[in-house]
Amino acid sequence: MTLAAAAAAIPLAVPHLGGNESRYVRDCLDQGVVSSVGGYVGRFEREFADAVGAAHAVACASGTAALHLALRLAGAGPGALVATSTLTFVASANAIAYTGADVLLVDSEPATWNLDGERLHDEVVRRAERGRRVPDVVEPVHLLGHPADLEPLLALRDRFGVRVVEDAAEALGARWADGPLDGCGAGTVGDLGCYSFNGNKVMTTGGGGMLVTADARLADRARHLSTQARLPGPGYRHDAVGYNYRLTNLAAALGVAQLEQLPDFLARKAAIARRYARGLVDLPVALPPEAPWAVPSWWLYTVLIDPARATPAAVAADLAAAGVQSRPLWVPLHRQRPYRGAERIGGAIADRIARRGLSLPCSVQLEATQQERVIAALRRALGAGGHG
Ligand SMILES: *Cc1c(COP(=O)(O)O)cnc(C)c1O
Repeated sequence: MTLAAAAAAIPLAVPHLGGNESRYVRDCLDQGVVSSVGGYVGRFEREFADAVGAAHAVACASGTAALHLALRLAGAGPGALVATSTLTFVASANAIAYTGADVLLVDSEPATWNLDGERLHDEVVRRAERGRRVPDVVEPVHLLGHPADLEPLLALRDRFGVRVVEDAAEALGARWADGPLDGCGAGTVGDLGCYSFNGNKVMTTGGGGMLVTADARLADRARHLSTQARLPGPGYRHDAVGYNYRLTNLAAALGVAQLEQLPDFLARKAAIARRYARGLVDLPVALPPEAPWAVPSWWLYTVLIDPARATPAAVAADLAAAGVQSRPLWVPLHRQRPYRGAERIGGAIADRIARRGLSLPCSVQLEATQQERVIAALRRALGAGGHG
């Protein structure tokens, strides 16, 4: 890559620190309150809960930590079985493994690329009829910011008591727009829901996460476990094996500032998605899912490359040479060393999506002219000719 191209490189997804970040962080420094004690943590939790429409929120050191706590509170542990998508970032499954529970990997459904709830539902009914083990918890992932169809999973909850923990790490601001969940925010429908504020997510605290729930007792318990399960009062007394999972005040200050900009971030991401949908219409790629009942967060804009044309890796290399960063999708978990031996239901659809998927630049500050460059470079990489 030439220096000029490097200077003008268009990143995949980088944070936008365009609001009160430095003011609130400076406020922490001025007050000398930077650790897990301090006013910004409580404020971030309250404002976040309001923003997503949850009753309670508990700020955690990472999305993975939030998932670990949520799964433990939902009953995951040694001897338990937890179902999740095979097509996801590895943290979804790692959090299950930390609890000691067994992982059940479920294939994607083509309409949203998310966990195939109908298929899991039917499989669980079949297993129950034969007296076989059914999952104790299901952890749907709202992949790339598109809400999963939770109705089959809520049916499993009603019929078999399967707890639902939503991995909404990528889906802050996504929601359902039709049916019984109309208006609900992704992450707020299950027993517990988790979000990530890692550097490339919809909003960031540098690193951090949030657990939400409608159940005040679960929220208290999560907060307790996140601070080493230390009992109030003098001395150091603990009633369980806890964790050091609390978010710092410094990170929460960033979170409050980012949250103020969330509506703007979501609007910009949706605008980027619309521009891609128009600009890519004549290219040999399939656009990302957008179910009529869903409003995605458009975390990462991901297309499927026609395998007759090119592999995502080859296209990514061509784009990189043009100063455009892109990223193939994750290798499904049933092909990853730690989870190869896990029980699974299918996997062929996840494989097909994973082998074709390529995520394109979609930072909130991506300008229309830069996006035209991305589209033109993609057109060239695919040998699709035409304008641009
Ligand atoms: C980012 C992510 C996580 C983990 O969040 P961290 O804050 O990085 O720990 C979990 N699940 C999914 C689907 C993610 O994309």
